[in-house]
Formats: sequence, structure tokens, C-alpha cells
Amino acid sequence: MPAEAFEFQVEARQLLQLMIHSVYSNKDVFLRELVSNASDALDKLRLEKLWDDSLDADVSDLHIDIDVDKDARTLTVRDNGIGMSYDEVGRLIGTIANSGTAKFLQELKEAKEVKDAAGEEGLIGQFGVGFYAGFMVADEVTLVTRRAGESQGTRWASRGEGTYTLEKVEDAPQGTSVTLHLKPADPENQLHDYTSPWKIREIIKRYSDFITWPVRMMPEAPAAAPAAADESDEAAEPEAAPEPETLNSMKALWARPRGEVSDDEYHELYKHIAHDWRDPLETIRLQAEGTFEYQSLLFLPAHAPHDLFTRDAKRGVQLYVKRVFIMDDCEALLPPYLRFVKGVVDAADLSLNVSREILQQDRHIEMMRRRLTKKVLSTVKDMMAKDQDRYATLWREFGTVLKEGLVTDPENRDALLAVASFATTHHDTEPTTLKQYVERMKDGQDDIYYLTGESRQSIENSPHMEAFRERGIEVLLLTDAVDEVWADAVGEYEGKKLRSVAKGQIDLDPKDEDAADDEREKQTEEYAGLLGWMKEQLDEDIKEVRLSSRLTVSPACIVSDAQDLTPALENMYRAMGQ
Ligand code: ADP
Ligand code: MG
Repeated sequence: MPAEAFEFQVEARQLLQLMIHSVYSNKDVFLRELVSNASDALDKLRLEKLWDDSLDADVSDLHIDIDVDKDARTLTVRDNGIGMSYDEVGRLIGTIANSGTAKFLQELKEAKEVKDAAGEEGLIGQFGVGFYAGFMVADEVTLVTRRAGESQGTRWASRGEGTYTLEKVEDAPQGTSVTLHLKPADPENQLHDYTSPWKIREIIKRYSDFITWPVRMMPEAPAAAPAAADESDEAAEPEAAPEPETLNSMKALWARPRGEVSDDEYHELYKHIAHDWRDPLETIRLQAEGTFEYQSLLFLPAHAPHDLFTRDAKRGVQLYVKRVFIMDDCEALLPPYLRFVKGVVDAADLSLNVSREILQQDRHIEMMRRRLTKKVLSTVKDMMAKDQDRYATLWREFGTVLKEGLVTDPENRDALLAVASFATTHHDTEPTTLKQYVERMKDGQDDIYYLTGESRQSIENSPHMEAFRERGIEVLLLTDAVDEVWADAVGEYEGKKLRSVAKGQIDLDPKDEDAADDEREKQTEEYAGLLGWMKEQLDEDIKEVRLSSRLTVSPACIVSDAQDLTPALENMYRAMGQ
């Protein structure tokens, strides 16, 4: 079959253009991306073989090879992993699944328009483009692959200019090899000579040392005419086949003592696991000894992924058993509200073919989840105490998700309440904790007041706020859908009731209670006619019309009964079909 030409999906084409003309100075990372993909492919094959022994694939010597050819100026990264079928190549390599890509491209275009090279560089550095990173250093990329168990291979090739070709090939070895035809050498910049074994060694050591499969490189071919003065004169001895050199230590970072591992090394592991190009906000180590032994390395990312609130959002924790990768995305290890946490858990005493279903019911896993959860929460607490800026970043990015825990995880409710912060009428921009709120409460104020709504502004404009503003009583301004749910579920903090200012009767001047009651009774009699008429007119929509002390400027407002759902919650439940 002849090679067929295809067009890249629009976003993929734009990304490629970017890579080709990239200003991104840290081009070395292309190799990290290729090795990371190769390592994933080896993990996948080993697992597939574990589940299906009949799979026709050799898993006896899984590895990644890097070959450089100085004369042809090519660099090849080859793995004997899972490989891809013809269809998969088109689907996985020709398109971009990441839903944040459009936004990224838009931001990048804007940076380009204002010629903000630093901004551009920052954006590329944050986003990462996986496989396409190869086009930063190559003017043509070819990929030959064969899916384990299949007999036919596929050859993909592209110059990055809008199209690629696909072709079936007969003699492809199992796995994938990616060959970069490197751009012409820059005589001014020897540092970026990717045909130099020294350079390759350096990059692998820096970015991929922890990869659990051997990353190997053949020694340089001996010079064409070997030096005449061969020290040993044993000419008869046949030349031994050159042994590949393994470039990475393959040491599991989570098993090494803290003092031996640099922050940079931890960060590179995070990037590999999270498919993120940015450093994490925090690294958390946990070593558990005793009857159920495990080691864990967890990361708090610095940015929320785009799919955090979609149903099939990825969980970030990988499960290993004694250094062997078992599964990605292990939902049994952390509760759903910590789904943004990435990392590795390596358990000593689990079966290698443990399934997700078994994990969900395993008593040890349950203990592990509780311990890991507490550790993450205590880390957030420490951050809050020691590094306000980083805490603020974490809460900005993940506060909404963490608040889900207030509803779903009563066991850790107090720990979550301790690290939660909320927008408040007390300050325009600085959020407050509940503890700080309580410390500021006025004499005679018994409750913590909040109001939910779409935005800070719409809440502040609500007539419900008038009386509170008038009296200088602080109100929390809650704008996430989950806020109403947790506020209801939690009910109180340190003996102080959480009360929505939009619900029920709120008496803000309790001292004059009797006088106020008398006064209101009198007025209610006086206005009985009007109130009755209004009730008649609005009968379909309301339960009752009453005089209020909570308004100062607005003539009227709508209030729910204390036990009623608020309008936003009603909408939410309706949307969920309940
Ligand atoms: P990511 O690794 O974040 O998914 P990439 O752009 O690096 O994104 O790779 C896209 C996809 O192409 C991978 O998810 C994988 O399915 C496939 N792929 C890339 N390289 C390989 C490889 N060496 N072997 C098998 N599949 C690969
Ligand atoms: Mg990748």
C-alpha cells in the first residue's frame, strides 16, 4: 500500500507551527518527552501481558534505546513496548486531545502579537506538547511502530507543515521508534548538539534518571581508521560486540532517602507522572513501616488541570508494587476531593495482578487512603502556616475541589475547615478563614453569616446584605456551587452556626428583641391590608409576605424558609434531574 497523506487537525497544526518556530529556549526537553512516552509504552505492554498471557509479545527484555548518527544527523528513540496500530497512530499522533489546547493557543497568540517573548516562553514551558516537542529540534520526524500482538507495522512521517503520511510496513519490530532528522547544526551553539553522546547522557541524567526501564545508548562507533598503536598486541582476539551503556540509574526516587534526592529530581518525576511541564507546588513524602509497608511520593500541582470537574477526570496517583508499575489513576488511594494530587504509592505486600475492584475493598488500602489523606491535609495546613503565598495558590486552584470533602468526608471535616478560606465583606481581596472570622465577631453575634451567589459583585448587591452592611457585620461571600451544599452539611464551626443571610428570620438586634417584636406586630397590623393584597397577587409563587428589619434601601426581597433549598441549590438539583 502506498503512503497516504493526511492533514493534521487544526489545533495540532497550530501547535506544530509553534514548535517549528519555537522561541522556547529549553529545547532539551524534547528528549524527556520521547523517553517518557517510551516508558509509558513499556509499562503498558508489561501490564497487558500480565492480564493476557496469550498476547504474542516479548516482554523479556524491555528497554529504551537511543541511537545517534552524526553523519546523517539523526537521533532515534526506540522502545519495544506496546506500539500503536495504524488507526491509533492517526488518532494519537495526528490530533490533540487536551481540551485546554485551544485556550493555550489563544494565550500564546496574544503573547506573540504583543511580541512578548518571555510570555511566550513561559506559556510553552507551562503547557508542554509531548510528542510534538520533537519539532523544536527536527525538521522531519518519522515514527515506525507495531502494536504488540499485531503482525503489520505502520510508518508515520511529517515535516510538521500541516500534513503527515501513513503507510503500512511489513518488517517493523514490536514497539515504536521515533527518528528525528535534526535541524542543521548551529555552529554558534555547540551546547545544542543532539548528536553528541555527552549531551544525550546529560539530558537523560537530568530529566529521566528515575525512569524504571533501562535507557540505553550504543557507544560511539570506533573511528574509521583505528589508531595504529594498539596497546595490546593480541590481534588475534575477536572484537567483542559493543555493549550498550545504560544512562539512567533507574532508582525509584520514593525509595531513596530524602537527603539523597534533589528537588529537581523530584520535580522531574512529577512532570513525568502528571504530564505537566511545570514544577509542582509541593512534594510530600511518606514512608510507612510495619505490617503493611509502603512508600509514597505525592505532589500538589501548581495549576488545576482543565478536566478537574469532568466526570472522567484523571486521578493522579500511580500504584506500584515493589517498584513494579501496576496502574495509573488509582482511585482507591485517595478520596475524590483529592483527585488533583499526583504521585506514586509503592506497596510491598500486594499481589502484582491486583484489580481495581479488589483495591476498593482491601482493608490495608483503606488504611493507606486514610493515612495519605491526613498527610495531604496536614501538608496544606503547614503550608498555610509557613508560606501564605503558596497556600493562596493552592486554595485558588483547588479550593473548590477541597470543599467537596466538607460534604463527603466527615472524618476530616475539621482538618478541611481549618485550611479553608473564603471571600469576605471584611476585605476586598484577602480571603478569611473561619477562625479569623470568629475572632472578629462582634459582641452578641452568635452566628457565622454567609451568602451564596454567582459572583462577589452580585452577592454584594443583594438586598439581603443591606442590614449587615449597615451594622458592620461581616458576611462570607460564597460563589462556588458546592458552597451551599457544604454550608448546609457542616452546619456549624466551633459552636457557631453557619447561617445564610438569605434564609429564615434573622434578628440582628437581639437585645431589643421584645421591643422589636412589639413594634413589628403593630406595623403588621397597620399594613395588614397591603400584606394581604400582595400575598393574593403572588399566591402562586410565595408562602408568606412579612415586614422585615433586614432592609435599609431596597423596598422588598425574597427570603427562603430556613429549611428550604436556596434558589441556586434548587437549580443545581433540578439540573441533576432530582
Ligand atoms: P501524552 O504522553 O501526554 O499522552 P504525547 O503527545 O506525548 O502526549 O503522546 C500522545 C500519545 O501518543 C500517547 O498518549 C500515546 O498513546 C501515543 N504514543 C506516543 N509515543 C508512543 C510510544 N513510544 N509508544 C506507544 N504509544 C505512544
Ligand atoms: Mg507524552
